Amino acid sequence: MNIPEQHTIQCPQCGGIEFEQPQVLNDGDWVTCVTCAQSFPLDDIRQVGLDQAMAVVIPEIKAEVEKMLEGLFKGKFK
Ligand SMILES: [Zn+2]
Repeated sequence: MNIPEQHTIQCPQCGGIEFEQPQVLNDGDWVTCVTCAQSFPLDDIRQVGLDQAMAVVIPEIKAEVEKMLEGLFKGKFK
């Protein structure tokens, strides 16, 4: 299973992927979308990024589990 190490975070507002951010990010910082100039709390962006990453990863996990279950049943009924 491949979990992308660096998942691209998209702006919740416009879907842009470029953000202006401080050199060093701290909790509570805000980042600004380059495309629509909308600012978002870093926590929100992180959450969105996490949700998006999960949306990519979950189908893969599901496929893995289904494959595993299939293998189990095959073994059982052999
Ligand atoms: Zn934007």
